Parts: sequence; structure tokens; C-alpha cells
Amino acid sequence: MQKRELLYEGKAKKLYKTDNDSLLIAEFKDDLTAFNALKKGKEEGKGALNAKISAKLFKLLEENGIKTHLVEVLDDTHHLVKNLKIIQIEVVVRNIAAGSLSRRLGIKEGKVLPFSLVEFYYKNDELQDPLINDEHALLLDLVEHEDELEELKRLGREINVVLKSFFAKRGLKLVDFKLEFGKDEDGNIYLADEISPDSCRFWDMQSGEKLDKDRFREGLGGVKVAYEEVLKRISEDIK
Ligand code: ADP
Ligand code: UDP
Repeated sequence: MQKRELLYEGKAKKLYKTDNDSLLIAEFKDDLTAFNALKKGKEEGKGALNAKISAKLFKLLEENGIKTHLVEVLDDTHHLVKNLKIIQIEVVVRNIAAGSLSRRLGIKEGKVLPFSLVEFYYKNDELQDPLINDEHALLLDLVEHEDELEELKRLGREINVVLKSFFAKRGLKLVDFKLEFGKDEDGNIYLADEISPDSCRFWDMQSGEKLDKDRFREGLGGVKVAYEEVLKRISEDIK
């Protein structure tokens, strides 16, 4: 499948049209941004690492009955994906307090949550992706029906169950992560975008070391080494 015209260039990926209207090519870039793109950087090889990590996790989820947009891995940095209408909601699932949850509600970073928390954020760069509730989502017409919000929460929790135990077996705590979903022409909902250290928090179970984009956000260095470590762990064949 050939890349045709560039459809969209985002902060971390480019999307290209293909000869087939129902398929797109996603290219993973080396660019890193944080704090609504106020902090910008680049890490050579980051795109390829995220493409590999995301492909592995999407395949794992498919095996566990989750429909995803991934059609085929084309090469190191390109995935062939279903062309979806993205639901403009970022679904964040949290197991341990960190980031904006800690800042907003004063919950100490590292506190294990008594249940997995699912949050909705309005995917809107101009408004800096604000936290919203179900009624806001309906008010903004982000979904067609309330049931779809329940479906997003259910999918978020189901994905969390699969990923949390997968990472635990590999010595990583899955702290939190962000998901995006999209619809095909028939209204079927698929997991879209990516799941990678750019969109998740992973802490090493032994050392507590952060192995995700917080290394870039917090200027800790060793971004690429951390992403390589995540890829190494998830490539291990553990039952
Ligand atoms: P951002 O848009 O936040 O800068 P990216 O650089 O990752 O993020 O850009 C990828 C864009 O592609 C996102 O806006 C995402 O919603 C969108 N996208 C991801 N998967 C699909 C898909 N299967 N079909 C259509 N759009 C998608
Ligand atoms: N996240 C993301 N994209 C966003 C916002 C958040 O991938 O636009 C991920 C982030 O990497 C983390 C989780 O969602 O794994 C929760 O992020 P949080 O709300 O704590 O935001 P932050 O601390 O980055 O402000």
C-alpha cells in the first residue's frame, strides 16, 4: 500500500491517504511535545519504538477481543490503519495517582486507587483538552447517544484489565494511559491512535523508575533508553 497525500500532521504522527478510502497510513514521528506543545523536543528512533510498542499492544488487545484500527505493520514507522471518524474524547484510565489527577485533587503521586478510574477529556488543543463529564460530552455532541459513553468506559476498563496484567508480568506498573476511539461507516467503535510510552505511564516495579514520557516532561533524560526498555520487556515471551 502506497502513501498518497498527507491528510494531517499532528504532534507525534502524520496521517496519509491511500488508494483505498477506508484505509490510512499512520507515520510515527520522532517529535516529542509536552504541556500542550509548550515544550518541544526530538528523539531519534522514538517513532520506530512507539510504532513497535503500539503494534504489539494492539495485537495483544485484538487477541483479547478488542477491535482495533490496526490492519498491518508496513515498516519500522508506518502502520496501515482503518480510516475512522475519531470520537473527540480522550479516555484516560488510571490505576495509580499521578499527573493531572494528583495536581487537580491533591492525591499524592503513587497512591494506588481503590478502583480503576475512567475519565473523559475533550480532545481540543485550543482549550487544552479539558476534563469533562458525561453531560458535557452530550452537550458538545461528542457522541450520538449516552450508551456510547458507557461503551467507552467499558472498553477502557476491559483494555485496562488486559494491559495491567500483561505489564505486571513484565515488571512494570501500568499507572495510567490515554485511549482514543473512532467509528467506521457502520458506526462500529474501534480502538484507534496509539498506546505507547507517549500515552501511558509505566513505573518499574523494583526501582520505581519512570519509563515513559514523564522523562521528557520532567527533563529526567534517558527518554530513548526508557522506551527501549519498555519494548524489551513487552517483547519477552511470558505466559
Ligand atoms: P495530535 O493530533 O494530538 O497532535 P498525533 O500527532 O498522534 O496527535 O496525530 C494523530 C491524529 O490521528 C490524532 O488526531 C488522532 O486522533 C488521529 N487518528 C488516530 N488514528 C486514526 C484513525 N484510525 N483514523 C483517523 N484518524 C486517526
Ligand atoms: N495523556 C496523553 N495525551 C494527552 C493527555 C494525557 O497521552 O493529551 C496520557 C498521559 O501520558 C498519561 C495519562 O494520559 O499517561 C494521564 O495524563 P494526565 O491527565 O495525568 O496528564 P498530564 O500529567 O500529562 O498533564
